[in-house]
Amino acid sequence: MKNYTKIFLQRKRKKRLEQGHPWVFQSEVERIEGKLSLGELVQILNHQGVFLALGYANPKSQIIARVLSYDPAEEIDASFFIKRIQKAKEYRERFLPGSRSYRAVYGEADFLPGLIVDKYEDYLVVQILSYGMERLKSHILEGLLTVFQPKGIYLRNDVPVRELEGLQQETGVWYGEVPRYIEIMENDLRILVDVYEGQKTGHFFDQRENRAALKLLMNGWKEKGKEGAEVLDCFSHTGGFALHAAYYGAKEITAVDISELAIETAKRNAQLNGLQDRIRFEVANVFDFLREKEKEGRKYDVVILDPPAFAKSRSAVKGAYRGYKEINLRGMKLLREGGFLVTASCSYHMTPDLFVQMIQDAAFDAHKILRLVYFAGAGKDHPEIAGVDEGHYLKFAIYEVRSRG
Ligand code: SAH
Repeated sequence: MKNYTKIFLQRKRKKRLEQGHPWVFQSEVERIEGKLSLGELVQILNHQGVFLALGYANPKSQIIARVLSYDPAEEIDASFFIKRIQKAKEYRERFLPGSRSYRAVYGEADFLPGLIVDKYEDYLVVQILSYGMERLKSHILEGLLTVFQPKGIYLRNDVPVRELEGLQQETGVWYGEVPRYIEIMENDLRILVDVYEGQKTGHFFDQRENRAALKLLMNGWKEKGKEGAEVLDCFSHTGGFALHAAYYGAKEITAVDISELAIETAKRNAQLNGLQDRIRFEVANVFDFLREKEKEGRKYDVVILDPPAFAKSRSAVKGAYRGYKEINLRGMKLLREGGFLVTASCSYHMTPDLFVQMIQDAAFDAHKILRLVYFAGAGKDHPEIAGVDEGHYLKFAIYEVRSRG
């Protein structure tokens, strides 16, 4: 066996690692045998010296090591990556049969901490988020090429967390050729993904199933003597929810986002699906937009709120709570009696309990009674390891909204 640096964990610690959590915190370490270098492979052992896992180290981070394998004899080489990536692919093929576009590798939850791979048809877009993974780049590339045989791979390493790891931000073609726009299919809709300039890797796969859930809300309007629902899609990005609403039969949709670039792509997406006549696009700040519509007395049947993470750290939760509450309260007020609020938060620090409390707080202030129609998290290509709360970031809910007096 190789001569790895050894990290011994304290006796009195939460048995997090044994419960499947892939991180070792500085505060759990009893002693270190050997030299701990940035990104190097290390063995993680309990206080008695019993082997627990193989990982890579970052002596400067609170997370001093991340787990790669529970097998002491594992070689972390190209064949390791081929095996792990193959397993991740099989998982998607099982749970998203027929789909050619999905999050193919979701970091820790696919036992590849710090590695994100999104598959857009024949292309891959990759984010390498840690020094430990960056060091293994050539093996990763071999793994991806062997398993997916892509036409091209694009790096979207323009993520600030890389600088905390001592890495530079960078973007560009990593392998083959990659066009700027790639057309994917999601729930029967054609969607253009801007892989060079779009947000994150260009598309948010995590809401796939939740976008499909809009179908529930688009039926039943004819019985009410209406052609279809009037929908407001806030934080629309490239039109994900708006397109689905139109496809499932909404009469009229307004899609709002602050990013001109995102709205441009959203418009192209509407054209691509022949839905442009029913979707209106606006570049605006949602906070201002909601206030204005309230002043005008405008009403909708369905209001969708899918904001970015307002809370990026625990200390930011209080301010974020106010922000979430404000848009939810205003969203509720813009609904016709018995309309539906579709609301999400992708901030990990906004826990599910806090999220629900925030919505109830907003309902109280708006004099509304809510009935829960649907509650979910991220889609099936974002697996969650039980007990790893950090992976449980997305909350998504649909409520029927009625007035109280
Ligand atoms: N609903 C989208 C994803 C939303 S991501 C989908 O289904 O794909 C969050 C979006 O909010 C981004 O597109 C970002 O440009 C936008 N955004 C952030 N702050 C905003 C604000 N104050 N007003 C309007 N849009 C905002």
